[in-house]
Amino acid sequence: MIAEVIVDVAAHPIDRPFDYAVPEKFQALTEPGMRVKVPFGNRKVLGFITTIKETSEFDPKRLKPIHELMDVVPVLNGEMLELAQWMKRQTVCFEIDALQVMVPAALRAKYEKRFVLNAAIEELPKELHPYFGTRDFVRAQEAEAVYGLMKKEMDKGTVLADTNIQQKTGVKKIRMVHITDSTEDIENISIRANAKQQLKLQEFFLKHVGQSFESSQLQKQAGVSLPTINALAEKGLANFSSMESYRDPSLLTAIEQKIALDLTNEQQTAFDAIQSSLNTENTFLLHGITGSGKTEIYLQTIAQVLEEGKEAIMLVPEISLTPQMTIRFKERFGDLVAVLHSGLSAGEKYDEWRKIQRAEVKVVVGARSAIFAPFQNLGLIILDEEHESSYKQDDSPRYHARDVAIWRSQQHQCPVILGSATPSLESYARAQKGVYELLALKNRAKNQPLPEVHIVDMREELRTGNRSMFSVELAEAIRERLARKEQVVLFLNKRGYSSFVLCRDCGTVLQCPNCDISLTYHRASERMKCHYCGYDEPVPTTCPECESDHIRFFGTGTQKVEEELAKLVPDARVLRMDVDTTRNKGAHEKILSAFGEGKADILLGTQMIAKGLDFPNITLVGVLSADTTLHLPDFRAAEKTYQLLTQVSGRAGRDVLPGEVYVQTYTPEHYAITLAKDQLYEPFYEQEMAMRRASGYPPYYYVVNIQFTHEDLMTVSGYAQQMTEYLRHRLSPKTIIIGPSASLIARVNNRYRYQCLIKYKNEPKLAEALQQLIKIYRSDWIKTGATLSIDMNPTTVM
Ligand code: ADP
Ligand code: ZN
Ligand code: ZN
Repeated sequence: MIAEVIVDVAAHPIDRPFDYAVPEKFQALTEPGMRVKVPFGNRKVLGFITTIKETSEFDPKRLKPIHELMDVVPVLNGEMLELAQWMKRQTVCFEIDALQVMVPAALRAKYEKRFVLNAAIEELPKELHPYFGTRDFVRAQEAEAVYGLMKKEMDKGTVLADTNIQQKTGVKKIRMVHITDSTEDIENISIRANAKQQLKLQEFFLKHVGQSFESSQLQKQAGVSLPTINALAEKGLANFSSMESYRDPSLLTAIEQKIALDLTNEQQTAFDAIQSSLNTENTFLLHGITGSGKTEIYLQTIAQVLEEGKEAIMLVPEISLTPQMTIRFKERFGDLVAVLHSGLSAGEKYDEWRKIQRAEVKVVVGARSAIFAPFQNLGLIILDEEHESSYKQDDSPRYHARDVAIWRSQQHQCPVILGSATPSLESYARAQKGVYELLALKNRAKNQPLPEVHIVDMREELRTGNRSMFSVELAEAIRERLARKEQVVLFLNKRGYSSFVLCRDCGTVLQCPNCDISLTYHRASERMKCHYCGYDEPVPTTCPECESDHIRFFGTGTQKVEEELAKLVPDARVLRMDVDTTRNKGAHEKILSAFGEGKADILLGTQMIAKGLDFPNITLVGVLSADTTLHLPDFRAAEKTYQLLTQVSGRAGRDVLPGEVYVQTYTPEHYAITLAKDQLYEPFYEQEMAMRRASGYPPYYYVVNIQFTHEDLMTVSGYAQQMTEYLRHRLSPKTIIIGPSASLIARVNNRYRYQCLIKYKNEPKLAEALQQLIKIYRSDWIKTGATLSIDMNPTTVM
């Protein structure tokens, strides 16, 4: 028996499986999808078995043997192994990275695999008895000599494979009582007439023949104590087992079950279209304005899929995986839902994953990596807020959950629903071409009007002498809500390193003369730089357009806003939500629920409050500066601004009370802002597509971003130069190669970063050229400490 193994060795120039001999003692258990320890060079490394075969092109006697099995049952199934190969080609990553990303984090850390006794020891062959001794489990490593026998028992179900995750919480065990399924036995048992408790329990058993109860539940429901249960068990009417209880990840108790709402006509039309292709690989783009009832359609479609005996994956961006969202799913599907969110410990996530693997749940709600949920019988995949950039992983494997979803839908012949109020340009363009089927919801489900959006020209404010970050109008609106005891959300549009120079008199933002991209302010050198082409110039003292000297670096923190707010409305209760206040586990939820319970008047925060907020008492949303995203040196800047403004506006007036939105900006005439005002998506799409076509960006062109880092500036720029030359020779003349140039953040942790951008429409030689590049890197440059990353279809090119 020979196993093909993908090994975890970063410095090997070739990414392919290696053949290993499977020792006799492992053969009964060994299967593809298991992890192993194998010798490689002079060390032992981790690897995944991808194939089992009988012959090798190498001399079988000289093959090295597998050293250890890390799993006793596969962690990945055949579909996942195939998916890894596809991801390797699609995202240009190493197969090992693709395999690792599908395995729950807990299994990548320290854990112990065991065989657990699942029957009386007597049912097992004698040879196995000593292994269990007095315990009901044995560490798999200690039982290597009897893997063959164990495998037979596992197939029978008398032994289970288990994984013991080492963590503080530990595994909670609960004691189960199983009532006999013989009514006769229960009736015929002899109980003394004065044993009232036992008689009572006998009655109860008669009503619940063959059922199982948690011991504590049984005591409560039957109104008896444990000794009584033990007494009847001794008489043979019940037996016990202990069951591992899952660490319950939900903060929720006793969720009321809710039934489906009556769909509106628009919802019904969309629902029908999806329902009629439940067994096809159709991809739907569900374009519905905020509050149009997309989630209700998801819920009802999922219900349909469950009825057919299939499973569903529901992806949401991490940021909108709020308790509110979780509750909506638990209300409909109860215990059939597993929720995977970042607040869970590795062990808790593993518990959820195990429920999926054992098919104990039918629906998984989770962020990006939930797309790898090992369901065997998938009936539907949904990506809510499909435009969100968090669906793309930003380190290797740089996969996009949307692509993986479509791949899996083809394997399972099931539909994908991409939902958004502001679809990505790529997806909308595909819908226009008929690659996706477009479904539209143009009205809000409860017919509430969209909030009224006011655009405030901050240049005017300055002209009239207001130097505060709050316009007169917004300040007035805030005071009004406070007086009416309604709630306010203030949104500070801020990205960590986005800093540009803006003229506060005319709104001019310094642009690169070569690239149509904002120049970035570099504080250390006091210079303006273009990170695409490397152009740079000193920070100007007067505006090149209007010669005003009110031109300066732009950017504010939430803390500063909080201080100003305290001066503006001293009595208001303010909650601040940003990276600083949400560092601790559960902090995000706590702030949101405090706000939901009316414990504050104003919620002030960054992008993390843009989504998911659904509180009826919010009637005012203020966007302090729409410009921050707009002037990002990124081709998606306008798209991101439009999406953000739409999302934030959607937070106001979601219930009975009408909502109002104030958007403060120095560029009030920009189409991303004027069109977001009335959620006019199509005109925005048309205009933005024209820009993309003119400047040669997606969806008209494909883009690849290649980045090098190294401690030494000369070394990294040298590699980047060589690489760019190499690509220019290899790729066709029509393909555009920009760079190399220093990255936006030119140095991180004392490592210099260089990048180059490939833009192409059709480039058959790309895959081969990139593979060659990786080979050169892995066999040569890597030794000097350089890193290389290749990002296909990047969500941002910063
Ligand atoms: P979206 O996901 O498009 O933002 P939601 O599904 O969250 O929209 O719906 C917005 C609000 O409208 C929610 O409060 C939801 O309960 C309600 N809603 C959705 N569909 C219906 C319906 N058919 N009848 C009544 N209320 C609905
Ligand atoms: Zn100016
Ligand atoms: Zn430039």
